[in-house]
Amino acid sequence: MFRTQKRRALERTNFGKEVVREQDYPDRLNMYLIPPLAEITLDQFEEWALDRLRILSEIETCLFRNRNMKMTEQTVKPLLEQYLALSPNSVSGRVSKGSQLDDERKKDHYSHFILRLAFCRTDDLRRRFVKAETVLFRIRYTSADITEQHALLARYNFGWTPVSDDEKRSLQEFLSFSSSESTYATSSGESYFKVPFERVPELIESRKVFLKDGVAYVPASQQLSLILNEFSEKLERALEVTARALPRLDEDDRLLPILAHLSKGFVAPEYIPDNSTTGALGHGVVRAAQVDSLVPHFPLCMRTLHSALRRDSHLRYFGRQQYGLFLKGIGLSVEEALTFWRTSFSKCTDEKFSKEYRYNIRHNYGLEGNRRNYKPRSCAQILTDAAPGANEHHGCPYRHFSEDNLVAAIQGLGVSDQGVLRGVRDDVRNKQYHVACTRVFEATHKAVGAKSAVGVGVGMESITHPNLYFDRSMQFAKQVETVENESGK
Ligand code: SF4
Repeated sequence: MFRTQKRRALERTNFGKEVVREQDYPDRLNMYLIPPLAEITLDQFEEWALDRLRILSEIETCLFRNRNMKMTEQTVKPLLEQYLALSPNSVSGRVSKGSQLDDERKKDHYSHFILRLAFCRTDDLRRRFVKAETVLFRIRYTSADITEQHALLARYNFGWTPVSDDEKRSLQEFLSFSSSESTYATSSGESYFKVPFERVPELIESRKVFLKDGVAYVPASQQLSLILNEFSEKLERALEVTARALPRLDEDDRLLPILAHLSKGFVAPEYIPDNSTTGALGHGVVRAAQVDSLVPHFPLCMRTLHSALRRDSHLRYFGRQQYGLFLKGIGLSVEEALTFWRTSFSKCTDEKFSKEYRYNIRHNYGLEGNRRNYKPRSCAQILTDAAPGANEHHGCPYRHFSEDNLVAAIQGLGVSDQGVLRGVRDDVRNKQYHVACTRVFEATHKAVGAKSAVGVGVGMESITHPNLYFDRSMQFAKQVETVENESGK
């Protein structure tokens, strides 16, 4: 990507067959050993990376919340379908469409390498990236069928040596003792691989392999662990190489700002409006007078701003920006926004309002200045912006409030469960602010008697945008209402 023609030609010559092999995408499982070479647009560069980042961010949240693999899969698979689908060569015996497969695999391949550039910069970023990517690879590998798994093993030579029948017979006693109960029962029929012991530390730790002369005898039933180890080790090494090469990156100034933005964290990037709520509250539908009644659906950051606005009849610039764009996102038109802010700033004269505030409100809607249509700010942007100073109320309460004030604010939302409050404290100490926000969302959206709660708990994408919180809360209220109507309450 983005290389000079000379260098591109050189690489094609150097890597020859191998490059073609991975660039052709014959199978969907990819170990990402060879970087992509074709050109893509800057828009694709950013969009594909952001889509993958959304998945990795969700995986990291699941890991942080100690969700097991099954729960993680339940949460991540719907997102994968939406943002990073990877179809098999054939579904139920029917061959999938070639161009669609290529597009999906190309996006997967490129997005992985783009994020390598963004996440190779520090030890911490590399560690988090490897962990999340390995889980993603595991989800894909375990949902692939046996043919696809074999195709992966055939394509990448891992250097594992199969144990011959003679050797297996001679070591039968040791192999059986080192195996699990189920393996013990079938050990005579089980195949084994010889692998240098340092490549399977967790199998040694859990005593699942027989060790002899620095070689681990790994049963085929433990193959997954072996493959995941290969994947994460290769990725770790590749990231270190990339980190060393990054200062010499042959590119213009267009990529570095994107990479810097991506590496700010594993965060959900852009707000994607949810159609199921825009039907009821589409853009331009919410009126200024309705805002107060919608506050129970706002996340803590926006409630804080709203309370300050009502108390002081004023908000400083950064608060107006954060809250104004959020309100724009929930469907306040520019006319309604002008009405809302005018009535809210009740202590200021018409003249002062027109002079000092009107322009900024219209500017946010792309009607003044550079005429950019600004989007509501995501949690990532809010969390990385400047912290609020004296008499300012913008930012994220999970990050910027003292622990006591935060707990009091959450209790004010009706959350008294000590387990939830403890969880929030832990999240905040670990700087997982959006996880704390998601925890509070779950605690405040438990429907008694409702059949199921929309987007709550396992399977729910975590809160990474204030407008996503709002959408989820509105959806939830609608579902509760439907269930109550059906049950004749
Ligand atoms: Fe607002 Fe996001 Fe903080 Fe929640 S995590 S309070 S939505 S900024």
